Amino acid sequence: MTNKQNKGKVWLVGAGPGDAGLLTLRGREALEQAESVVYDALVGDGILGWIPEAARQIYVGKRGGSHTKSQDEINEILVEEASKGRRVVRLKGGDPFVFGRGSEEAEVLRAHGIPFEVVPGVTSAVAVPAYCGIPVTHRGIAPSFHVITGHRKNGEPAQMDYSSMVKEGGTLIFLMGVTSAEHICQELIKGGMDKNTPAALLEKGTTAGQKKAVSTVEHLWEEGKRQGIRPPAIIVVGGVCGLADTCSWLEEKPLFGEKVLVTRPKRRSHGMAARLREAGAEVVELPAAEPRLIQKEEERAALKQAILESSRYGWAVFTSPSGVELFFEFMKEERIDIRALGSLRFAVIGEGTRKSLETYGFYADYMPGRYYAEDLGEGLAAFIAKEKEQGSTASETVLLLRARKASKALTEKLKEVGIDFEERVLYDTETADVSPQAERVKNLLSKKAFSFVTFTSASTVEGFLNMLNPSEEEKEGFTAVCIGEQTRQAAEAAGMRTVVSAIPSMDSMAERMEELCRH
Ligand code: SAH
Repeated sequence: MTNKQNKGKVWLVGAGPGDAGLLTLRGREALEQAESVVYDALVGDGILGWIPEAARQIYVGKRGGSHTKSQDEINEILVEEASKGRRVVRLKGGDPFVFGRGSEEAEVLRAHGIPFEVVPGVTSAVAVPAYCGIPVTHRGIAPSFHVITGHRKNGEPAQMDYSSMVKEGGTLIFLMGVTSAEHICQELIKGGMDKNTPAALLEKGTTAGQKKAVSTVEHLWEEGKRQGIRPPAIIVVGGVCGLADTCSWLEEKPLFGEKVLVTRPKRRSHGMAARLREAGAEVVELPAAEPRLIQKEEERAALKQAILESSRYGWAVFTSPSGVELFFEFMKEERIDIRALGSLRFAVIGEGTRKSLETYGFYADYMPGRYYAEDLGEGLAAFIAKEKEQGSTASETVLLLRARKASKALTEKLKEVGIDFEERVLYDTETADVSPQAERVKNLLSKKAFSFVTFTSASTVEGFLNMLNPSEEEKEGFTAVCIGEQTRQAAEAAGMRTVVSAIPSMDSMAERMEELCRH
């Protein structure tokens, strides 16, 4: 993805039909390197969350008749952005060359001497039926498939030779044809098609909004109307639609049809999103809080001193994965050798923190059975007491490495059980800057698009509120799924409807959502 001439370049990238998992690896690579992203309405909301923060983001959405930008204007934007020497990703729904006007854009770029590459995408013509359980070919049923535009010109359906389509005997797939569905079906019957031929209207395939109306070519339009099918949708006509039940699979997933907003600290992994996608949810990510290493000289000096005198402490305690990451970042910034940690032992609050620590080659020496601050305090105290009984002479002083606003529950517990501890502030948690992603999420919230919003700390709740300032009505649209009691209290105090996971882990949060969906 390097761009040697220091001249701009455009990647025409197909984003697939909506599901973020259907963006190709090549497409994701191009996106990660982009300095400017020009995107359409049909690009999945999950994918838009992956646009690098530093990139310019230009929405040129087209949907049905209401064009936000004309094709000429889009061409102009591409030329302009690339002429500034930028790496431009032109992100389009499905495949850029399947009714995507990608080739018209390529022509314009060529005419301006701007280099480009094409990254094919998974086209809705094939993937949407597949997500609805409809194979586009099937031995003995459909020997071919045909992708046809159902687009109207000046309000009139396109004139086409329907009888020859019928004669081919393959699966017919019409894109952009919902408003002409009645006309298309009538013309097919006139062209000689058996009126009992199975047919389907498939809306917003591969997303949480996926809907399918399956009927016969004679009754498809009525069935679509009855089910309220709206664009974007495709029409599939042919015997293969009869397999829609046998081959359906997405609808069976526990979180099918649910759109979930995952708020997370800026640098945290995408583990939660992956877990929820696996369960069939459409996931949109929003970095809501930004953990930042302490900056003040005195504080940094105090932390550094504690590390250099690590032999004074028996234990170091981490209560979040961010804390672990920032701690090692601090070591690096200060050029403190790992060996300075000597025989220091580590206690962690739970699974996530434990895993984070392991990536640095340290295996936690203590983790409580229940992942709450009180349990950590009590459990660690008992652990230390037992060791002492067994004759250990190790230091009992505990070094807490946490966020400035960390909960008092842990320190209160340690005081109560008489454990000697020292605290060093490691990081502050700030609200992430308002980004184009936050604006898109705000728009989705106003449409009540999310069934769930996940929160893994009180600071993500705070960040979410600061960034999006949701109205009472918007808050009613979703259930806040919280990792623990403290997080739940923060969300409840802000007027959200809340549930809390059985244990503070991402898996348990996902299970809580699955449970709610079963009811
Ligand atoms: N280049 C795109 C097609 C662009 S034309 C592709 O390869 O998929 C836009 C049409 O694509 C829509 O009118 C609709 O018919 C279809 N379409 C795109 N995404 C869709 C989706 N998720 N569900 C149903 N139809 C979709």
